[in-house]
Amino acid sequence: MIKIYDSESRAKRDFEASEFGRIKMYVCGPTVYNYVHIGNARTFISFDVVRRYLQWRGFEVIYVSNITDVDDKIIARAHEEGRMASEVAAEYTEAFIEDMRAINVLDPTIRPKATQEIPEMIQLVVALIDKGYAYEVDGDVYFSVRALPAYGGLSGRNLDDMEAGHRELRTEGIADRKRDAQDFAVWKAAKPGEPSWESPWGQGRPGWHLECTAMSKKYLGYPFDIHGGGCDLIFPHHENERAQAMAATGSDFANYWMHAGMLQVNSEKMSKSLGNFKLLRDVLKTVDPWNLRFLMLQTHYRSSLDFSEERLEEAAVAFARIKTTVRNAQWSCENASADRSVLDEGHVEDLMRGFRFNFLAAMDDDFNTSKALSAVFDYCSDVNSLLDGCALSSLDAVAAERLIGILKEIMGVLGIDMDRALESDAAGSAEEYPVELIELAREIAGFEGHDGADAADALIAARAAARAERNWAVADAVRDRMSSLGFTIEDTPQGARVSRA
Ligand code: AMP
Ligand code: ZN
Repeated sequence: MIKIYDSESRAKRDFEASEFGRIKMYVCGPTVYNYVHIGNARTFISFDVVRRYLQWRGFEVIYVSNITDVDDKIIARAHEEGRMASEVAAEYTEAFIEDMRAINVLDPTIRPKATQEIPEMIQLVVALIDKGYAYEVDGDVYFSVRALPAYGGLSGRNLDDMEAGHRELRTEGIADRKRDAQDFAVWKAAKPGEPSWESPWGQGRPGWHLECTAMSKKYLGYPFDIHGGGCDLIFPHHENERAQAMAATGSDFANYWMHAGMLQVNSEKMSKSLGNFKLLRDVLKTVDPWNLRFLMLQTHYRSSLDFSEERLEEAAVAFARIKTTVRNAQWSCENASADRSVLDEGHVEDLMRGFRFNFLAAMDDDFNTSKALSAVFDYCSDVNSLLDGCALSSLDAVAAERLIGILKEIMGVLGIDMDRALESDAAGSAEEYPVELIELAREIAGFEGHDGADAADALIAARAAARAERNWAVADAVRDRMSSLGFTIEDTPQGARVSRA
């Protein structure tokens, strides 16, 4: 049974899909006025993992994630740059899609844009006014929070406590347009030069919270299963989305609310306003996307994650252990030529079953990726001890491939494509083959080529030939000189295996 921590009930609850075998999920997307930073990326990766896991568990997942392409910040940026707001939004929408693909976040099933859903939003506002939950003041429409007893139920806020904080504003006359200081804008009258749409209240544009209420209704229907976003959205954004939905339709809104913890720098939230942010695309200029994703997985999605270069480095080292297991096992399979089988099929099955069980238990428990990775590491050391020191037969190779197959499958559920990760490693290290290696191969092995990997192969062949002739001086020289260039030679029953430090 999958358990999900539901922010509204403040407890882990057994998950039940509202429709058999199908899950409807909504995750608030970005406001497209700039490139996303790695804090934003963390939230999107968290929900990508949730989605992939639910799909792996056999559900069909309808994943809706919007683009907020009309907003004060977009308008401000457009004014600064002397451009149309729609141009700014289009540019950063495209960049966002590119950035998400670069970290292997799946495209949503549906990616609606706020500016294309205005009629649905206006319909909602009309319903809110008709039912007495909203009122118009000079082209603005406000939601009357006192009219909805359920208001505050998501964030656990009490209106009277909130009111105290606003009393000062009221006496200064700042909140006069609104009947209650807590009331929020559902629809905003347009100022000159702003993007606007015709409405029963004159030219205007939707309030931010309204979009998600309208788009989730249109594409998923209420109540849908899971609503997600970063925990900074609980109040006011999600509280207000929920209020609008419940008031306009009388229905529940979302059955489970999931909120991701913040990515922090020196214990402070990474945010554009604090200026302590690193844009995802800048980070990816020097950091392998799989290492970044691995770093995110090491912390449970609800905890905050303190980002630092050191932690990124540690994540890279930890992830390298998994890659080494796969690489070595693949190497053993490719070099399988022994006559007798050594692997016990029952044991192989047990290992795989145990791994699958531990992974499932971790992920069923509110998507605990950090525990899931412990299961991955345990499994890797089991596979290492099973295969290390063995000469595999072709029959064993089939079993070993299955051992690796499930490891790749499960890493894939976490959004890490092991084949691509290994390829990107190989591409990275191919560029870094030192020229000294080629020179060494020329000197010792009569090598005439220009490729680093071929040079390494030539040296290994020369060492094997020297060993066969019992010419230990040459064999040792090859090993020592390669080692000083960062290449380790390991003798296995299937021959010499080279790895890079
Ligand atoms: P925004 O474009 O600001 O609405 O943010 C897009 C998503 O990123 C929202 O789900 C936010 O909750 C999330 N987010 C913003 N800052 C952070 C952060 N420092 N760590 C994790 N998620 C964040
Ligand atoms: Zn939203």
